[in-house]
Order: sequence, then C-alpha cells, then structure tokens
Amino acid sequence: MLASPGVTGPTPPRRVPLARLPTPLEPSPRLGAELGIELLWKRDDLSGLELTGNKARKLEFLLADALDQGADTIVTAGGVQSNHARATAFAAARLGLRCVALLRTPDPAHPPALAGNSLLVRLAGAEIRWLGPSEYRQRDQVLASVAARLSAEGRHPYVIPVGGSNALGSWGYVTAVGELCQQLPPAWRGLPVTLVVACGSGGTAAGLAVGLRLAGWREARVVAFAVCDDTATFQREIAAISAEGARRWPGLPVLAEGDVEVDDRFIGPGYAVPTEAGLAMIRRVARTDGLILDPAYTGKAFLGLATRARELGPRVIFIHTGGVFGLLPLGPELVEGGA
Ligand SMILES: *Cc1c(COP(=O)(O)O)cnc(C)c1O
Repeated sequence: MLASPGVTGPTPPRRVPLARLPTPLEPSPRLGAELGIELLWKRDDLSGLELTGNKARKLEFLLADALDQGADTIVTAGGVQSNHARATAFAAARLGLRCVALLRTPDPAHPPALAGNSLLVRLAGAEIRWLGPSEYRQRDQVLASVAARLSAEGRHPYVIPVGGSNALGSWGYVTAVGELCQQLPPAWRGLPVTLVVACGSGGTAAGLAVGLRLAGWREARVVAFAVCDDTATFQREIAAISAEGARRWPGLPVLAEGDVEVDDRFIGPGYAVPTEAGLAMIRRVARTDGLILDPAYTGKAFLGLATRARELGPRVIFIHTGGVFGLLPLGPELVEGGA
C-alpha cells in the first residue's frame, strides 16, 4: 500500500481551493493499444475551465501565501501564450486581487494582437506589460522592480515566478501524487510505471518526483519532455526547486541532478514554435482518443512519449497539463497537412 504525501513527510502548506480536484485518471480508449502500451490520461486539463491545466494546482498554494501576506496585487511573467499568466489572472479575479502580467514579445513597441491566452488575461482584468527578449531574460529583476514600484504606490504586490515554479508552487504536484496513488488501478500496484510530463519551468516535474519519494512509490519514475531549455538546465532547475523545498519544509527529500530524466529532443525550433510532427500528434490524439493537446507543451511531450513508447512502457501515465487555449491562435494549419 502506498502512503500519500501529506500523510508521510511534512504537513503541506495552506492552500485555497481553486482547482477542480481530483482530476480523472482515465484509460486511453485506443491510442495506448496503437502504441503497444497501457496508457492512462491524468486529466489535469480538467482542473477547471478558466484555470485549466497544471498551474491551477500550483496557484492553490501560491495564492494562499499571497493572501496570508496581505497581498492585493499578483505580479507574474510568461510567454505571450502563457497558460500560467492566464490561470493566474483568473485565479486573482476569483479572489478579488489585481494582477499584472509581464509577457514576452519580440518588439514591445508593436505587441501582438490579443488572442488565445493573452486575450483571456485581459478578459480577466489583468494588466499586460510587454517585455522584449533581453528584458525577459532579466525577468526576475524586472518582476522585483515592478513590485517595488507598486509598493511605492501603496499597493501590496506578491510576485509569482514564471510558471509558478518555486518550491511552494511545486507542492501542487507533491500532493497530486497522493491523488494518483488513490486512483491507481489495483493491477498496476507494485509494477513499474512511468509518469510522462511536459517540462517548461520544472516545477511540475520536481513536485511529482518529490511526491513519489514521499509516497514511497519506488516503482514509478518521472520522464519530463523539455519544451524550451536543454536537459542540463532543467536537471539543475529541478534539483534547485527541491533543495529550496527541503530548506523550507524539513523532511522533504532533496533531488540530485539526474534523478528526473529530462528529454530535450522534441523541442523543435524553439519554445512555443509549433512543429509539423507536434501538430500531427495533436490531430492523432484528437481523432483517436478524443482529447485536445496543445502546440507548446503537451503536443511535443506526447510526441516524445509516442516515439519512445516501447521503452517507456508497458505502463505509462501521461500527465495532461492542459494548454488548450494556446491552440486558439492557430489557423487552418492545425487541421491541414495530412494525417
Ligand atoms: C506551464 C505548462 C507546462 C510546464 O509545467 P512546468 O511546471 O512549468 O514545467 C506544461 N504544460 C502546460 C500546458 C503548461 O501550461
């Protein structure tokens, strides 16, 4: 019998209920058989409509901390199609907080037309400030200086890093492992299981790996498919998030670089740049299992899973981290191009 994190290990920090939990764990009706594996979908895309995706779980912890600190304004950053910024904007609205989103664009003087996630950020009433690529590289300093200016104006800002990926946010996936343990089919207990997830800032992969340790679920491992940076960068990032967690919550395990397998071979030309193979995989999943993947994260991660299916199998759980609104700015190229 597996123990749940929270039952073993330190008590999880306070959370505000934002995500629709538990999310379903569903067998793949056909695609698993096509790939020659047993495949389960962990439907974190169903964590809520406005908050769809993995950020909803992280925000439960991050926004509880913001409220405890008396914050009135959330400040965060992301790409132009940031699911994190969109989920944060709606979560802030739900809690009566203001939100400022710093979004990256090639030329802040000529920002892109609002569409998909960026349109929804504005719909939720958040303020968008555009950052150029060089400012975005310094985003932690920019976030701090925006917060300092808000403080000088008498506001109470709370900064959430990109992707909500600090140790506190990663609790969202430490506790998600407990949920998975409860849902695991009895026939899978005690057998090797691979958890596959997209990796954009490392918090989800770090939380899952820490959660597996706390649960004593030794037969399970995490394979994270990078969508922007390389393997070494993410392995460092994941280790750093877990080290911060172990400092703040004694009893949390420290991950070594290399404890989580990170595969950076399915990024394509760059972050959030759709690839033909990724779009073909989105079509295949939609038509075979009736699910929507996204071009920046889950489409690429699932392409990695499908390409390596025999080796990752025979039992795989794909953590569907959402991202559906990132699909909306695409045009007919989504459905054209064969398959
Ligand atoms: C943010 C995001 C991820 C990546 O999660 P990280 O914790 O940032 O690594 C994966 N999928 C989707 C759809 C996301 O929005």
